[in-house]
Amino acid sequence: SLASVATWIEALEQAVQQRNPGEPEFHQAVHEVLETLAPVISLRPELREAKLVERMAEPERQIIFRVPWQDDRGEIHVNRGFRVEFNSALGPYKGGLRFHPSVNLGIVKFLAFEQIFKNALTGLGIGGGKGGSDFDPRGRSDAEVMRFCQSFMTELHRHLGEHTDVPAGDIGVGAREIGYLFGQYRRMTNRWEAGVLTGKGTAWGGSHVRTEATGYGNVLFTAEMLKMRGEHLAGQQVTVSGSGNVAIYTVEKAQELGAHVRTVSDSAGYVVDDKGIDLPLLKQIKEVERGRVSDYAARRGSSARYILGGSVWEVPTDVALPSATQNELTAKDAATLVRNGVKAVSEGANMPTTPDAVRILRDAGVAFGPAKAANAGGVATSALEMRQNAGRDSWPFARVEEELAQVMGRIHDTVYETAERYDRPGDYAAGANIAGFERVADAMLAQGLI
Ligand code: GLU
Repeated sequence: SLASVATWIEALEQAVQQRNPGEPEFHQAVHEVLETLAPVISLRPELREAKLVERMAEPERQIIFRVPWQDDRGEIHVNRGFRVEFNSALGPYKGGLRFHPSVNLGIVKFLAFEQIFKNALTGLGIGGGKGGSDFDPRGRSDAEVMRFCQSFMTELHRHLGEHTDVPAGDIGVGAREIGYLFGQYRRMTNRWEAGVLTGKGTAWGGSHVRTEATGYGNVLFTAEMLKMRGEHLAGQQVTVSGSGNVAIYTVEKAQELGAHVRTVSDSAGYVVDDKGIDLPLLKQIKEVERGRVSDYAARRGSSARYILGGSVWEVPTDVALPSATQNELTAKDAATLVRNGVKAVSEGANMPTTPDAVRILRDAGVAFGPAKAANAGGVATSALEMRQNAGRDSWPFARVEEELAQVMGRIHDTVYETAERYDRPGDYAAGANIAGFERVADAMLAQGLI
C-alpha cells in the first residue's frame, strides 16, 4: 500500500543520512526526490526488489584531490577539488564544475544527484555528475585563475573523456575557465577531444546558445507553465535574483518576450530598476568588468536603487525566477511572494527554493517549476554541443535555439503528463522527479546489477 511504501521510503532516507553524515544539502536533495516516489514504487514493486533507490543514492565514484597553485605574489595555496560521478546508466557523466568557497563534498553530491534526473529529463543520453572546488575566483587575476585551472585539470584529466565524463561550467566557471581547462586537458592527453568539455568558445568547438541556454530555457519553461493557466509572459512583472550567467540570460529572454524585469541581485544586495534592467549595462559590469550589482545601481541613474542586504523577494511581482544559488528563497520569502500575488516561481538556480517554501507555494496554488525541469536547458544545450563535436559540425544560432525550445517544450509536457498520470495534477516537482527517476531506473534494470 501507499502508506507502507511511504514508511519504507522514510527508513531509506534515514539510512542515507547516516551513511552520509554532515551533508545537509545532499540529504535535502535526496528527501525532495524520495518523498515524491511513493506512487511509482507502490505501482512497480520490481523497482523496490532490485534496490533501485538504494543504488541510485550511492554515487558510482567520488573523486577528491589536492589542487596546489601559486598566486601572483608567489604565495602557495592549497584547495580541494571534487568530481562526483553519480550515475552513468543513460550516458557519460555530465554536469558542471563550481568554483566557490562554499563548495564541499555534500554540495557537490547534492548537485550531482539533481543532475542525474535533470539530464534524464532532457532525453539526450547523458548521465549525472558534478564537480568543483572551494577555490574563490573573486579578486583573482586571469593569470591566477589560469594557474588554478591548470593545476585542477592536471589531476582531473585522468578521469575525463568524451565517452566517460564531460564537465561544463556552473557558478564561478564560465568561458574563461573552460578555455584554461580545455587547454590543459589537451596538453596532458595530446588529444584534440572537443567533446570532453562543454561551454567552449564558439571559435574552437563550442555551441551557439550554450551561454544563454539555462536562462533562456527557464523563461521558455515558465512561459509554458503560464500557457497552461491561460496566461502569457508578456506584460508580467518578473523578479530575477542573481547576476551571473543564468540571471543575465533570464533577463534577456524575459525582456524579449515582453515581460518587465526590474531586479537583479548578488550576495551583498539587490537592485530595483523602475525603468527595467538595462541589459547592455548589466552585461558590461558583470561580463566585462566582473563587478557587482551595486556598480550597476551607481551608474544607471535615478530609475535604479540599490538595497544593501534584504531580500529581492520583497519586491511585489507576478513571476519569480530565482537564479542565484541553493536555498536562496525561504519560507518567509515564499509567504511574502504569495501575499503579493505571485503566479509562478521557476528555478533557474539549482535547489534555490527551500522545502518549506515549496510547500507554501504549492498550497497557495502557485505554478512551481522545479530546477530539474526548468533549468535543464543549459545541460540540454551541452548535449547539443556534444552532438556537434561528434559530427565535427557547427550549427547556426537559430538552429540551436530552435532545438532548445523543442527540448524545453518536451520536458514541460513530459513532466506535466507524468504528474497527471500519478495523480498529482499540476505538481511539476513530483512529475519531474517521477519521470526522471523512471528513465534512470528502467535503464539500470535493463543493464543488470550495476
Ligand atoms: N551547471 C549546469 C547545470 O546545473 C550545466 C551543466 C552542463 O552543461 O553540463 O545543469
